[in-house]
Amino acid sequence: MKITVIGGGPAGLWFALLMKKRDPRLAIAVHERNAADNTFGFGVVFSRKTTDLLRRCDDELFRRAEGLVQTWEKVVIVHRDQRIDVGGNHFAGVARITWNRLLQERCRELGVDLRFESNVPEPRVLQRECDLLVGADGVISTVRESWKEAFRPTLDARRNRYIWLATAQPFDGLTLTFRQAPEGLFMAHSYRFSAAQSTFIVECGEKPWRAAGFDRLEEVAGDATLRRLEGIFASDLGGQRLVGNRSKWIQFLLVKNAAWTCENVVLLGDAAHTAHFSIGSGTKLAMEDAIALYESCGRHAGVSEALADFAATRKPVVDAYQENALASTTWFEDAAAKLHLEPLPFAVDCMFRSGKIDLDNLRRRDPAFVARYEAWQAARERPAGPT
Ligand SMILES: Cc1cc2nc3c(=O)[nH]c(=O)nc-3n(C[C@H](O)[C@H](O)[C@H](O)COP(=O)(O)OP(=O)(O)OC[C@H]3O[C@@H](n4cnc5c(N)ncnc54)[C@H](O)[C@@H]3O)c2cc1C
Repeated sequence: MKITVIGGGPAGLWFALLMKKRDPRLAIAVHERNAADNTFGFGVVFSRKTTDLLRRCDDELFRRAEGLVQTWEKVVIVHRDQRIDVGGNHFAGVARITWNRLLQERCRELGVDLRFESNVPEPRVLQRECDLLVGADGVISTVRESWKEAFRPTLDARRNRYIWLATAQPFDGLTLTFRQAPEGLFMAHSYRFSAAQSTFIVECGEKPWRAAGFDRLEEVAGDATLRRLEGIFASDLGGQRLVGNRSKWIQFLLVKNAAWTCENVVLLGDAAHTAHFSIGSGTKLAMEDAIALYESCGRHAGVSEALADFAATRKPVVDAYQENALASTTWFEDAAAKLHLEPLPFAVDCMFRSGKIDLDNLRRRDPAFVARYEAWQAARERPAGPT
């Protein structure tokens, strides 16, 4: 069987790795338009559940990642200069470049044919020469575009602007910071992904973005953009600088496809769907897709049966995840309207934003936090006594 993968990101590499590991006789080629060490972004995040799942699939990858992965169990919400900690949230962060390098290394030693600097402008040519064509070519997918009548994609550019940056400030949890500048609300999503660096994504509405002049500063974040943001988040950065990596302000693109498969072609990862960074990382979803497709291929010898099985089992899961992610996206888009809330109820509202977490769930994660919140609520409802 001949498998061709377009895109050497986490989805494509992980699928190739798993398939080749199970059956070394498979001929698997991965075409990646960039060089092996060329990657944007900074850190990727996995929940403990995802980490356990990935480890079960390839323990060797995790053995090599040991010492390179940062873990934490707190979500920290900063509002009105007050920090609210919510425990019991287990996450792991790792540098995106490290993660891709480890995946490449494992693919190479298992015998996957990795072809870097191999741009595929016309996937139909490769499709005719293989049994299975995997479109793991990211958010702006050529494969999706080539069969768009079958996949029927919808692309929705969301309202907020965001920029992906990093800093040496070592955040000790997944920290969500809300800062009111004269131009409006600016929000940061930050977490440590290596001993020396944390991801720092800044998000804001169109109005504050324009009012602060970010539309007129350089398109790719240069010094002026970074220094301005350092000023807004001065209390959070502890004097550390912000750095970019080909970073620029963009709008989150919500990608959906009515179908993920067509003929012998399948979409994986960002090419098939995106989910806002406020609910977790696209890398997690991409790698879980790859596991689902690998499992479907294990259950069915025929490609069309395997693809039908993959679409039937995985798509409903991702559709539900995208619903939760959209609720979270909207919460951040409308966050300015919530700023009247005191820090504690604001933090609870923020934790509930996707609809996946309720008070009982939160109680299991961090009973002391919920007790504190309930005490605050009770004090608010208690009639004032005689003075
Ligand atoms: C600016 C930006 C920064 C990001 N930073 C982070 C981050 O720090 N942490 C994080 O968790 N997520 C980050 N993300 C999200 C993350 O990239 C994805 O959710 C995740 O990588 C999805 O994995 P994937 O394998 O589906 O796609 P990708 O990782 O995007 O991989 C797709 C690959 O396909 C290649 N490709 C595309 N077209 C072709 C073609 N025609 N021929 C050959 N190769 C092709 C691309 O070069 C790319 O390497 C970022 C996204 C953006 C837009």
